[in-house]
Amino acid sequence: MAAALIELAGIERIFQLGDSAVHALRCLQLSIAAGEYVAVMGPSGSGKSTLLNLLGLLDRPNAGTYHLEGRDVTTLSAEEQARVRSERIGFVFQSFHLVPRLTAAENIALPMILAGIAPAQRTQRVVQTLRDYGLENRADHRPDQLSGGQRQRVAIARATIMQPAVILADEPTGNLDRATGEEVMRLLEALNGHGVTLIVVTHDQALGARARRQLLMEDGALEHDSASPAGGKDANDANDACALPT
Ligand code: ADP
Ligand code: MG
Repeated sequence: MAAALIELAGIERIFQLGDSAVHALRCLQLSIAAGEYVAVMGPSGSGKSTLLNLLGLLDRPNAGTYHLEGRDVTTLSAEEQARVRSERIGFVFQSFHLVPRLTAAENIALPMILAGIAPAQRTQRVVQTLRDYGLENRADHRPDQLSGGQRQRVAIARATIMQPAVILADEPTGNLDRATGEEVMRLLEALNGHGVTLIVVTHDQALGARARRQLLMEDGALEHDSASPAGGKDANDANDACALPT
């Protein structure tokens, strides 16, 4: 069998705030293959964003290992992680996270600047991408001059310009009306149709049901995995890779 795109084993994430500790992820085991479309669901505070941030190398676990494309990325330096992030991972957030002072074209070009791509090639790719996303007339607009749907299209364009292996989307339609949200989901699903692995956090049941696989988080644990008949919890109980009692 081909190596999984994403392989988590015994992942723990504990946030220490003064005297109190929040156990945000508890001994997570998870394997995701290249090309999958996965919805991460569960109540507010169950650890969905914490999981996505770890998958996106925006955060590090307190214990456990994360293999991305067969490579242990937990032990990489911050610089090496940044490189993997810029080349292999695209992020889409609920609140867009665009740079307010930069135009749409400049926001889309950012990952290429970080990756050291030459200006001429950057310009060419930005022009093409603006066209692909129907934003050619918005190139010089700043985020506050764009609608919510246009902002999220800029964010998706930025997330995909480096042709990542995986797109991590945290409540991507959370700030959009239904019709615009639908448009954004179709864009993300079209990317998945072209082979990009898509992981979407949502608390919208209908949205989650569109994915081919559903993960249910509860209190930091994987409570259910539609791809695993025994369920994530049983898998966890049977596993002794956990560093801490769950
Ligand atoms: P969800 O995305 O499912 O709503 P989160 O992953 O954001 O949940 O949060 C899981 C738990 O971890 C919550 O109890 C939250 O308060 C806590 N948490 C998340 N991030 C931090 C942080 N940076 N510092 C302290 N606690 C945090
Ligand atoms: Mg969240």
